[in-house]
Amino acid sequence: GHNNLNAKLVLLGDMGAGKSSLVLRFVKGQFLEFQESTIGAAFFSQTLAVNDATVKFEIWDTAGQERYHSLAPMYYRGAAAAIIVYDITSTDSFSRAKKWVQELQKQGNPNMVVALAGNKADLEDKRKVTAEEAQLYAEENGLFFKETSAKTAANVNDIFYEIGRLLLHV
Ligand code: GDP
Ligand code: MG
Repeated sequence: GHNNLNAKLVLLGDMGAGKSSLVLRFVKGQFLEFQESTIGAAFFSQTLAVNDATVKFEIWDTAGQERYHSLAPMYYRGAAAAIIVYDITSTDSFSRAKKWVQELQKQGNPNMVVALAGNKADLEDKRKVTAEEAQLYAEENGLFFKETSAKTAANVNDIFYEIGRLLLHV
């Protein structure tokens, strides 16, 4: 078909929020209780059918930005989309996500599609960030928001699908 798109996508967020786990779930359909921490950045690609088009995501899973923050722009520069991930059981990770949103608003590509993922939604009994406050924050900042679980797979394909739809304008 003619409506095929290659899209660079970057995952940003606090260490331990579940960035690598979301990618592993999306790309390989797997989950590891003891996901190895990422060193530097890892690259994956996955093609998704969206209506009668396809989006080939070129995914950069980042790590270590807490210490080497100056490297981050290398990954989000030129990105068509970003998923900013926090852990619903950690208010610190939600604050960190907001910092990433601000940074992308200041330095990122203005047309970038930005999604906010409240991950570890399976850990309801340990929840510290409500879906309502995250949804409100997302609306105020023009992001789209979903709670996800890399463990159960809830909403993982959906978030990529929604990004694909927004990139294709369909
Ligand atoms: P990253 O540092 O953001 O890449 O986070 P990781 O993907 O390495 O995940 C950190 C830890 O959280 C690992 O032990 C994962 O198994 C766990 N984890 C990731 N996603 C989920 C999830 O959705 N639910 C639960 N219960 N644990 C998760
Ligand atoms: Mg990682």
